[in-house]
Amino acid sequence: MIHEIILASSNAHKVSEMKDLFFSKDFKIVGAPEKLEVIEDGKSFFENALLKAKAYSKKYKKPALADDSGLCVEALPDKLGLETARYGGEGLSDRQRWELLLKEMSSVPAEKRQAYFCCVLCFYFSDDEIYYFEGRVQGVISEQGQEGEGGFGYDPVFLPEELAGKSLAEDTKWKMENSHRSKAFEHANKFFKNYKF
Ligand code: IMP
Repeated sequence: MIHEIILASSNAHKVSEMKDLFFSKDFKIVGAPEKLEVIEDGKSFFENALLKAKAYSKKYKKPALADDSGLCVEALPDKLGLETARYGGEGLSDRQRWELLLKEMSSVPAEKRQAYFCCVLCFYFSDDEIYYFEGRVQGVISEQGQEGEGGFGYDPVFLPEELAGKSLAEDTKWKMENSHRSKAFEHANKFFKNYKF
């Protein structure tokens, strides 16, 4: 029997990435019928992922999966991180956010532009059964936007260490295999392979 897991996200890019990244013979990810307004006031990516997964699980009476992710920029320690989605204020487009980031970083020298993306997945099955998986990818913030065919969010300004100057937006194949979200799912896939009901 295949069990459904409700995905607690309305970001279409994320939903499609996550469906492609999760492999399980026992579970299938399905989109949530409706978006819930969840106040993300946790103190960590773990707490925020839990808040979202728990809210969707309680509402739809099914296991739920949420991710919380963000970009942590060494030169701006208090500005992004947990606040990545709200950086610059409400209502900005992805492009406006990364343009603002480049502007704020304009005087930061190359050797101080380190950053990492972090993703925490929370699988909420019940109050007594909650699983977390984390993934990170290390890199630097570029000096100019480097848009490509794919990606979303801050991808055009994030240059992973392993990509020799290319941005995450310019190599979606690499992103699917190596991103913070892929790494977190690798751990989840390994765990659920041996999961016993
Ligand atoms: P969340 O939906 O609260 O997890 O928001 C995460 C924030 O980080 C959003 O602003 C996203 O655009 C950004 N973000 C998360 N993952 C990625 C990614 O893979 N690429 C680019 N931006 C990302």
